Amino acid sequence: MTDAGSREIRQGLSEDRELHEKLVERNTIHMEPVIDKRYQLRETSKATEIIQKAMDLAREEIPRGRVATYIPELGKVDPHQLGICFYPLKGDKITLGDYDVRFTMQSVSKVIMLIVALEICGSKKVFKKVGMEPSGEAFDSLVELDVNDSKPYNPLINSGALAVCGLLLPEVSFQDMLRYTRNVCSDMGVELNEDVFDSEMKSCSRNRSIAYLLQSKGIIQTDVEDTLRFYTKMCSMSVNAESLANLGRKLANDGVSASDGKRYMSSGTARIVKTLMLTCGMYDGSGTFAIKVGIPSKSGVGGGLLSVSDKRAGIGVFGPALDAQGNSIAGCKLLREISNELRLNLFFDPEWDKEELNEDVINDIRNGSVI
Ligand code: GLN
Repeated sequence: MTDAGSREIRQGLSEDRELHEKLVERNTIHMEPVIDKRYQLRETSKATEIIQKAMDLAREEIPRGRVATYIPELGKVDPHQLGICFYPLKGDKITLGDYDVRFTMQSVSKVIMLIVALEICGSKKVFKKVGMEPSGEAFDSLVELDVNDSKPYNPLINSGALAVCGLLLPEVSFQDMLRYTRNVCSDMGVELNEDVFDSEMKSCSRNRSIAYLLQSKGIIQTDVEDTLRFYTKMCSMSVNAESLANLGRKLANDGVSASDGKRYMSSGTARIVKTLMLTCGMYDGSGTFAIKVGIPSKSGVGGGLLSVSDKRAGIGVFGPALDAQGNSIAGCKLLREISNELRLNLFFDPEWDKEELNEDVINDIRNGSVI
């Protein structure tokens, strides 16, 4: 997007706050999908078979996980559900299992908060308030925050997202954000789940502490309670695996819908968001996930996973039984299997995928000239 384009978005926002129109309609540029030709999945039936097999394997993980209970309303969700929507840039949408069951976005919404903040405020202003490093801590940690004048590590953990909300609040309303979410997820059914919202507002002492700490450090300058409500509403938007795949597909295509050529965010924003998803999207499980799966992803404690196979596909997963880090336990297994079988790892290249280790390298290692 040109500078003039983003200026227009900002002006438009202050005029009438119709965020979605500014982002969606004024930036129509009709472009072809930016396909990575090496990896396109031409046979839908073969891919469906592979994903179905991966689902069967992933289901076995469910008994090892637990639904989140620190938000009491989430504790009522059936842990046995599992669904996926896999939507290639070119090719048919594949939907399996509980792909249309609604759940709350939770931390997946941090991606949307970040997109809008980058578009409206620009990256300089955003990264003045929040860093771009993985934290290695739990998603709701506050330990690192009270050290010197440190800012939150990144926008994809609670402290960072609350800081981002402090930037958004003077610019947009929750209704603006809801409309943009509906558009970018191509899902007019996205709603605020009032029960989950109320439930979390009654049990958010940790987030409240983080937000007040951020205020004391001058990072949040808006009203803390309003900021907290805005953040919690964003977490309580209900989506399904299909909506997340639609969002992932636009991120995979440089911020542009591969269906109708409309631009939903600038290239720069799409790139920053995908990079942070790879390095920080799975909290303190991000490094392991990057090695085992290698697909930029963002999880939420509602069981959602948004994954972006760049230039190839958007993937949405729903599996509410979580692992110790708060990531969908079956969802991670499912993505790992799919990534291996469909060769979706970001660093996989058929040219380099030699089954056998190179003899010369082995000899070099033995001789001590490597490592
Ligand atoms: N609403 C949740 C919270 O703030 C989101 C956390 C998550 O999905 N990891 O705790």
